[in-house]
This record gives sequence, C-alpha cells and structure tokens, in this order.
Amino acid sequence: MKVTIDKSAGFCWGVIRTIDIAEAEVESNKPGEMLYVLGDIIHNPMEIERLRGKGLKTITHADLPGIQSGKVLIRAHGEPPSTFKNAKAPGITLVDATCPVVAKVQERIRKFYDNGYQVVIYGKTDHAEVVGLVGQTNGEAIVIRSLEEIKKVDLSRKTVLFSQTTMDKQTFYTLKEEFQKRIKDCVVETFEEQAREFHAKDTICGQVFGRDKKLREFASQNDIMVFVAGRNSSNGKVLFHICNEANPRTYFVETEAELESGWFRGVNTVGISGATSTPQWLMERVKAKIEEMFYTPDPSGEQEVLSHHN
Ligand code: SF4
Repeated sequence: MKVTIDKSAGFCWGVIRTIDIAEAEVESNKPGEMLYVLGDIIHNPMEIERLRGKGLKTITHADLPGIQSGKVLIRAHGEPPSTFKNAKAPGITLVDATCPVVAKVQERIRKFYDNGYQVVIYGKTDHAEVVGLVGQTNGEAIVIRSLEEIKKVDLSRKTVLFSQTTMDKQTFYTLKEEFQKRIKDCVVETFEEQAREFHAKDTICGQVFGRDKKLREFASQNDIMVFVAGRNSSNGKVLFHICNEANPRTYFVETEAELESGWFRGVNTVGISGATSTPQWLMERVKAKIEEMFYTPDPSGEQEVLSHHN
C-alpha cells in the first residue's frame, strides 16, 4: 500500500512564517515572561495545543487592556491600526507577524483611501483580515460578498475594489465586471457627467488560488483519501467537500486516533490531505499510523513491506 501526503496541503508560507516567529519568541522568553497572541494563531486545535505547551497564550482584544507586560503577537491576518495603538502599554512589546502579502494589501488600501477613493472590499465582514483592512480606511471601507451587495456602493464616487486574500477569484471578476457595467450605465443615463473612475485590484493570494483544482487531481489519483482537519475549520469543511466530490471514499479525521482499519481493506493507494490550517506534522503522524497499522515484516527478513490487515 502506498501512502502519500498531498504536496499542496497544509499551511501557506505566511502562516508558517508566523508560527516560526512565535516559536522563536517563546524560546527567547525571559523566565516568567509570556507570549500572547491576539486570537487563535491558526484554526487547528492540535497546533494550538502544541504551541500552548511551549508558552503561547491566546487572548482576545477585550483582554488587551488588562495585559501590562510580556509580548503580544499580531498573527498573519494582521490588525487594524487601533490594535497597535491599544497595545502600547509601557511593559508590552509588540511582535508584528502580519503576513507580508496582507501587509502589502493594507498599504495599498491606505494609499487609495488617502487619495480620496471609496474603498470596496470583497470579503467576509467579520474575518480578522477584513477587520484589519477596513481599519486602514478609518472604518469606512464597504465590505461586500455578492452582486446583490453592490447596492451598498455609491457609484458616483471614484472607487477601488480589493479582495480579502482568501476569497474566490471567479466571484471577484464577476463583481469587477458588474461594477464596470453599472458605472457605464450611469454614464449613459446622465450624459453630461464625466466617466467615473473605477479600479479593481485582484489581491487574492497565490498560495490559496488553485488549491481546489490541485486537491481534486490528487484525490482522484488515490483509491481512498484521508482528510485531516479541525472539525471547526471552515476552510477544512469546504476542502473536505471538494475532496469528497472527487473521491467519494474520503474519510475525515481530526487526529490519527480516529483511523479505522476497515477503511483500508483492498486498497492500494491512500492519499492524505488537509485544510490550510492542518500542520504538516499532523498529516505525517496520520501517515505513520496508517503505515504502522499495515506494517508486516518480510518473512525473509531482508525487506519490510506494507500489506493489508484483515
Ligand atoms: S496572504 Fe497568502 S501567504 Fe499570507 S497568510 Fe494569507 S494565504 Fe497565507
């Protein structure tokens, strides 16, 4: 039996970078010093637990005023400027681990806003990254998720459309076209008006774009799939669904303890994949467990083989 981990599964480099920063910081903690992170560093209970064991403590924005000393880490999603202001107590050191891709989007939004543009963001209102992006515009940016919501936008103003980095590319371009069409229609109706200025900036991250297609391909190449993710990861649910569509023999597990030997009967190839919040080490543990379940020493003693249990 061949067990393969999906190469395109797991953390994007922005999250890996944030975790590396967090690990370096906890290791350099002075005795008694704490490293706090604003919100879960990642949507995976196993990874949170591992980092908690090393001294990382998750806090909320409401906890911030009560923190008088220690280090506060800004995670990959970034934060609005107000958070940086609120974390300015004399005993607090801020560790900014905002993903550079997100930081760049924040900077571009700020520039357009400062130049008098109406900023529209295609994203999810409550998502931490979007809160950070909206914060660059003094809370004025308009967040939309569908064509229906274009009505919230004032089409008589010069406008720029950005995207949260993890949204769907196709919808972004549909929104862009709809904006262009509606703006053109306005100009035709009010003949004497100047053509309105509209820009669309595709800020969807290359790390997530195309993930669905790669997962589908990988899933269809294996007899069965084991999908590893936290049960409350929304990205995990979406990707599991895609995986399941491409390969109906897909099993969802949170840890290797949930594997059942019956799934592997008569199977030659097993694929392991996971959400963007699934750590590589967890997928490796699942792989090792499957191999251990089906490990049979070669009777000749020369070679070790993996075979099916019954
Ligand atoms: S912007 Fe891209 S690289 Fe950065 S955290 Fe988001 S998905 Fe990861």
